[in-house]
Amino acid sequence: MIKGSFNEYQLSVELLKAISLLNFSCPTKVQSQVIPTVLAKKDIIVRSQTGSGKTAAFAIPICELVDWEQNKPQAIVLTPTRELAVQVREDMFHIGRFKRLKVAAVFGKYPFHVQEKELKQKTHVVVGTPGRLIDHIDRGTLDTSCVRFLVIDEADEMLNMGFIEQIETIISSLPKERVTILLSATMPQDIHVLCSKIMKDPIRVEIEEENPAADRIAQELYHVDQTDKMQLLRDLTIVENPDSCMIFCNTKQTVDEVHAELVELNYSCEKLHGGMEQRDRLGVMNQFKQGFFRYLCATDVAARGLDIDDITLVINYDIPHDKESYVHRIGRTGRVDKLGKAITFVTQNEHKFLNDIHAYIGKEIHLMERPEKETVHQSKQDFTTKTNMQPEIKESKGAQLSTEITKIHVNAGKKTKMRPVDIVGTLCSIQGITAADIGIINILDVSTFVEILNNKGESVLRELQDTPIKGRLRKVSKADR
Ligand code: AMP
Repeated sequence: MIKGSFNEYQLSVELLKAISLLNFSCPTKVQSQVIPTVLAKKDIIVRSQTGSGKTAAFAIPICELVDWEQNKPQAIVLTPTRELAVQVREDMFHIGRFKRLKVAAVFGKYPFHVQEKELKQKTHVVVGTPGRLIDHIDRGTLDTSCVRFLVIDEADEMLNMGFIEQIETIISSLPKERVTILLSATMPQDIHVLCSKIMKDPIRVEIEEENPAADRIAQELYHVDQTDKMQLLRDLTIVENPDSCMIFCNTKQTVDEVHAELVELNYSCEKLHGGMEQRDRLGVMNQFKQGFFRYLCATDVAARGLDIDDITLVINYDIPHDKESYVHRIGRTGRVDKLGKAITFVTQNEHKFLNDIHAYIGKEIHLMERPEKETVHQSKQDFTTKTNMQPEIKESKGAQLSTEITKIHVNAGKKTKMRPVDIVGTLCSIQGITAADIGIINILDVSTFVEILNNKGESVLRELQDTPIKGRLRKVSKADR
């Protein structure tokens, strides 16, 4: 972090309020570079690791500059994975909360028509994976004619996944007059080539971490036979007794096997891999973020970019075959200046992967002796106590932002031709309510959801019991969050 204040950027009060409720006290290094540049509408290329506050770095100026009145999307954010799309959507939604910005996420393996309906409504920002974004553009369900901001997040990963052609197709549909922001952890040559095609005199910044994750994280190595991995995993989890732990495996099948064994042993454990339904993947991620269970077995789908606080231990049950994955996996712990531990298992014929990792991180991982039987035995009592304890549930990140907001359900929607203007008109006719108290309005087929801001929800609810909307009294109640 560097000294400075968000007040220096002359942001609107709505944004400053959200930033303060998110507990961002001063801009991080990457934010102090990116925010003023984007506010000045200049293109920028940023080399920076995840965990540096890079999402807010582009989200803050974009949320500041988008025009609330415009109905068509004004910003597109490209991400390599669906999980990251959902996370970026959440972060942008929180930052734009009091400006009442609508942020949609679109990604594959999710019903197209649901996203199509969402995009039909006023949407300021669309976050998505390249394939699904192209589908929406091709089918005319995403209008890109008013896009003024393009963000390419985790660009190196996107190119690794072979998305280059899709990215170029998306860009060809966008207006030329726009601000383009590209963020990447590494800067291979093909990124420079891409930037030269799509950017105008970009500013380039490189953010070196003051205290790199690799230094904050204690890294340990265990030699183990393939058949003995499960026993070593059991012993180490007993000795370490983490509050929250990710176990990475190289294949879906190993994730399934390790998960099944741990569940059998009564561990509080779930799994995450690309073979699962999208809905289940998102559910598992959310529950893990909130601390509903302690152990998550996963493939690399969970390694990149995801922001989960307070993971105390990462275990590479299988050593990753690619050196960058190692850094991404261990980076799930030791987030934003916290300490953490990462343990890696290596079998006899995997030393070439280990050597690659050593060369890449510029140091040797500390080789450990496996714990003595006696040590495991002594730790067992504490481990069992924790296993039988309910984990502490954490408040979700945006919770503070929602305390003054009440979501209301109106029992009428598109089928009865309800429009935002009908809702706004009725609400503003209530004494003490102005447009500034009305948050996001979401009109579905037979229901409408409206957010009432500034602690005025209860009084609005009372008034609407006898105030007609679009000529009729409607059933109005508090909506379940
Ligand atoms: P990112 O690099 O976008 O994954 O962000 C990493 C974490 O830093 C997220 O949990 C953010 O909520 C948090 N964060 C972003 N900006 C700040 C800030 N200025 N001060 C404190 N935390 C921040």
